[in-house]
Amino acid sequence: VSDLAGRQVTVAGLGVSGVPAARALRGLGASVTVVNGSDGEAQRVQAAELEPLGITVRLGDGETLPPGTELIVTTPGWKPTSPLFLAAAEAGVPVWGDVELAWRLRGPDAPPWLAVTGTNGKTTTVRMLAAILEAAGLRTAAVGNIGVSLLDIVLGDEPYDVLAVELSSYQLHWAPSLRAHSGAVLNLAPDHLDWHGSMAAYAADKGRIYEGNQVACVYNVADPATEDLVRAADVEEGCRAIGFTLGTPGPSQLGVVENILVDRAFVANRQKQAQELAEVSDVNPPAPHNIANALAAAALARSFGVPPTAVRDGLRAFRPDPHRVEHVADVDGVTYVDDSKATNTHAAQASLGAYEHIVWIAGGLAKGATFDELVLTAAKRLRGVVLIGADRALIREALARHAADVPVVDLDRTDTGAMAAAVREAARLARPGDTVLMAPACASMDMFTNYNKRGDAFAAAVRDLASGRVTDD
Ligand code: ADP
Repeated sequence: VSDLAGRQVTVAGLGVSGVPAARALRGLGASVTVVNGSDGEAQRVQAAELEPLGITVRLGDGETLPPGTELIVTTPGWKPTSPLFLAAAEAGVPVWGDVELAWRLRGPDAPPWLAVTGTNGKTTTVRMLAAILEAAGLRTAAVGNIGVSLLDIVLGDEPYDVLAVELSSYQLHWAPSLRAHSGAVLNLAPDHLDWHGSMAAYAADKGRIYEGNQVACVYNVADPATEDLVRAADVEEGCRAIGFTLGTPGPSQLGVVENILVDRAFVANRQKQAQELAEVSDVNPPAPHNIANALAAAALARSFGVPPTAVRDGLRAFRPDPHRVEHVADVDGVTYVDDSKATNTHAAQASLGAYEHIVWIAGGLAKGATFDELVLTAAKRLRGVVLIGADRALIREALARHAADVPVVDLDRTDTGAMAAAVREAARLARPGDTVLMAPACASMDMFTNYNKRGDAFAAAVRDLASGRVTDD
């Protein structure tokens, strides 16, 4: 900690991760400069907060390395290929993310980390894990990419026995010295390829979660790429590869037998074939992808010595976060479901697979994704499609290739009011018994601040539809 005092640190970016990082570094006695490419009203407000603390803020230039910089602490928005990092590499200046900073600043008695990454299901799994650890009477918190700054936790006074940590691929990319107690990669599908540059680079960053694991590397049996990452990792001696599967588990695996979640990996009694953990109906909702999340959470908790009853009690106590396959309302016999958190094709595929007849509302920022596979697997279930957002043409073209007879309404809009119009169009296409599913398979930032706002707009439009009100803002 003390060795940051007097050091010249550049923080790349303001916002929810940059501002706390700058404050913390200043608090440790570093000489801090924050650089930020954009120079708008929001940035000036943040700058005005930081400057009285003796922090220099440079707006309008996020590319030039401030002279004398000894360390860069970066926020997730900055691509590895940014000119700032190229200049840093040339000058031999290290780059840390907020997780690396938190890891290095943690005290000698810091609690171990049970870490979760994957393309989808991270937040759900981390919340399930925290619920299980709490049920075991442990002092814990769900932290990290979930929206709770690790830096605040590490520098705070609250004592913890163990942390349930969600890590994004960006955070893992810039966290070279992180060593978790146990880590899990839930699944791997193309996402954020524009940031990472390639699928291989994205997978490699996810795989860093296994580096140096002490007890268990948890992988998805149905997704062999996750097991490949375990094999590629350099782990502590005695650390085990533990698989989770929706089928009957092999040795060193957790799985499902006759609607019971069972553990064959952490069985105390060697004679015993499988330890029962919970019933499938204890998982909320008991959809296949969510049972997989529950098994991964159980594996991490069990690697920390949590008893089977706590797994069951924790899963029963768990409540899903909003905008994740959330039932909004039934209107005229049609069910409206908000899966705004389906910001990539892999997530949308999970929810599109859960309904029979669907009117699908899709579109937004594609982040370099392709939609052929998603459209192919969903085609038979689609009653109709309503497209909104910047990259909707990519989905329209995939539909033309693989689902030519499905009616498509292309709203050709990217304003916030487009969601209300999309709901009305969807209502027109739907028949009683159908589901209108807003699972955009894209990020929201072309139209909304974030996926929460997109989900809220959908829910508001559905409520207006139910009350017969017409809005067109
Ligand atoms: P993350 O934090 O990784 O974004 P969430 O738990 O917030 O994950 O869920 C994100 C989206 O992915 C939601 O739309 C959800 O329905 C879907 N999802 C959740 N778990 C899985 C899974 N294991 N496989 C595929 N999709 C999933």
